[in-house]
Amino acid sequence: MQHPLSLYNTLTRRKDPFEPVNSPFVGVYLCGPTVYSEAHLGNARGPVVFDVLTRYLRHLGYTVRYVRNVTDVGHLESDADEGEDKMAKAARAQRKEPMQIAQHFANLYRQNMLALGCLPPDIEPQASGHITEQITMVEEIMANGFAYEVNGSVYFDVPRYNAERERYGKLSNRSIDDQLAGTRDTLAGQDEKRSPLDFAIWKKAAPEHIMRWPSPWGEGFPGWHLECSAMSRKYLGGLSDIHGGGLDLMFPHHECEIAQCQGSHTRTDESRFWMHNNMITVDGTKMSKSLGNFVLLGEMFKGPTATLTQAYSPMVVRFFLLQAHYRSPVDVSDEALQAARKGYRKLMNGLRLLEKLQLPEGTERAADTEKADAELRKLVADVFVGFNDDLNTARAIASLFNLLRKFNGFFANLTTLSTVSEAALAEATESYRTVVTQVLGLVDEPRANAEQLLELTLSFYQEAKTAKAYDKVDQIRAALKGQGIVIKDLKTGVDWAYEE
Ligand SMILES: [Zn+2]
Repeated sequence: MQHPLSLYNTLTRRKDPFEPVNSPFVGVYLCGPTVYSEAHLGNARGPVVFDVLTRYLRHLGYTVRYVRNVTDVGHLESDADEGEDKMAKAARAQRKEPMQIAQHFANLYRQNMLALGCLPPDIEPQASGHITEQITMVEEIMANGFAYEVNGSVYFDVPRYNAERERYGKLSNRSIDDQLAGTRDTLAGQDEKRSPLDFAIWKKAAPEHIMRWPSPWGEGFPGWHLECSAMSRKYLGGLSDIHGGGLDLMFPHHECEIAQCQGSHTRTDESRFWMHNNMITVDGTKMSKSLGNFVLLGEMFKGPTATLTQAYSPMVVRFFLLQAHYRSPVDVSDEALQAARKGYRKLMNGLRLLEKLQLPEGTERAADTEKADAELRKLVADVFVGFNDDLNTARAIASLFNLLRKFNGFFANLTTLSTVSEAALAEATESYRTVVTQVLGLVDEPRANAEQLLELTLSFYQEAKTAKAYDKVDQIRAALKGQGIVIKDLKTGVDWAYEE
């Protein structure tokens, strides 16, 4: 496939030309949510960015299989191997089954993602449905000598792996010494581990632990990092094309995933490209559940919230997330969201404008349109330059606005359309429409409240009746009838009903 798409690969620390393992097929895996609570704005950035990435890859002609998992077991309170399982904790607090919690928040998550315009993933595997695959992977890693069992738990032997197979830390670019320095104080309570760098790939279930499965090492549950390796391998093969997630997943989660794949019989880096989106910040600080500075998506759509003075629609939020390059942090505020709303509306007005760009009848087209056509085509090409440069949506959107400025110029004086050829104009308008709606996934939201418009129409009807303007009265009646609405004249005024 001929295209100049480059993507920043965390693993190589540079922009690499995108080349699939098995073109035209592309496998993309995004680490999905741990479904123990409602998603906040910070959680939405990854899904929106990777939605645009998969849309763009499809636009380029690839056949994409997009996997976004649901974590419903194994994610402990601390990202290390300690604390209670997040799902079990929520279940205990709410006196519910863990799977009930998982189902509830997974449903809510899907609703929010659909509202944000994210296409449903092709496969949405749940960790609890892939215990067998995870046990197999643990067995492989043990057979290769990179894991050991202690009291029913299995730990990944990081020093041995680092010495005999691959550099542990190659993704996050950390040396073993630095990592050791960072863990020295936390060894307490981890006496089962031979090294503080080791991580659990299987944990023995304590008697009170609800989520548990039989295994060769007794009843237990998989370590959080293991599910993504096992499910990525199952659905995308031993080497996928793109593995994505937030920057905060790079270490330890993704570092551990690579170690597990290299340490098992797979012996690959799990994915060719590792991509990480930056964080959403509030006054410069990362938005996170633990810091309490988050705004839930559901609340944001309805607004106002504790930190935002009004509601912001899902499409405005989507535009807000895409107006920045995914590797830059984005700070959220009323001001920033209002600017995003302006930008989003501008793009939508552009869509409506396209329909009206018609050369007035009787206007002669210029004999030579070559130069103007080339200019127009350059504006369109610039949009794709943005996408091809590491999915730089900020740059692509800026170029879309340049193209839109050109359209606005034509619209201000339609006879100027005579300077470009019909073909060049059609290409430009089609590209604008495709990029906005299909690639960026920005669609027009209902613009007005139908109920309010109806009330307004009824007040005009009442005025016309009072003024005995019966032509107007009939006209309004007929227009509403066309919409399946009948006007009822009452002694007390007017009302409406659906036509039965
Ligand atoms: Zn993951």
